[in-house]
Amino acid sequence: MNEKKEHTLVFATNNPNKLKEVQLLLPSHIKLLSLKDINCLEDIPETAHTIEGNAILKVEWVKSHYKLDCFADDTGLEVDALGGSPGVYSARYSGDNATSDKNIDKVLHNLKLAEDRSARFKTVIAMTFKGTDSLFEGICEGSITNFRRGEKGFGYDPIFLPTESTQTFAEMPLEEKSRVGHRGKAMRLLIEYFSQYILK
Ligand code: IMP
Repeated sequence: MNEKKEHTLVFATNNPNKLKEVQLLLPSHIKLLSLKDINCLEDIPETAHTIEGNAILKVEWVKSHYKLDCFADDTGLEVDALGGSPGVYSARYSGDNATSDKNIDKVLHNLKLAEDRSARFKTVIAMTFKGTDSLFEGICEGSITNFRRGEKGFGYDPIFLPTESTQTFAEMPLEEKSRVGHRGKAMRLLIEYFSQYILK
């Protein structure tokens, strides 16, 4: 019998979709717990000025307050003609009452006169596991469309066209977004780390 030992790890998110997406990518003997599952109900401050900084803040919070192994992701959209904005401020780009719709409107408005529409999504996953801290990065290069295309996905998906794709993230099936996308790339690195160093 070759039963693998079960590992439990906290994914510092309360987004049920992210949790489901990530659990599906992991081997079944790695069980994820959400922030709610560990009774972490407070808002973890995301006050860093970099994407990796915010991912690390979430991990450090769980590590210091709950003494648990944990990983956390943070994502940003970097638009070259906007000097890398919205970047780490992607969630709140259009202000305190930001919505994805308002954020997209602001990007499209600010790019009205731009010739260069190149952009990238960047995900950083920070992890602390058995005393070791690690970072995994996934980048997806692409460009910003002139208008919204597609109904799938979330956030900036309707205006992001990955390089060498004819479909925006919001037009393609989730499996394809996972294959070419930033979060899938970062997650595959984390899974590789698990299989090399933890699951031997
Ligand atoms: P988060 O802090 O990682 O949840 O992401 C910050 C913001 O980036 C979110 O509010 C979304 O607007 C945007 N975002 C994150 N991931 C994606 C994605 O995969 N597609 C489109 N937008 C995303």
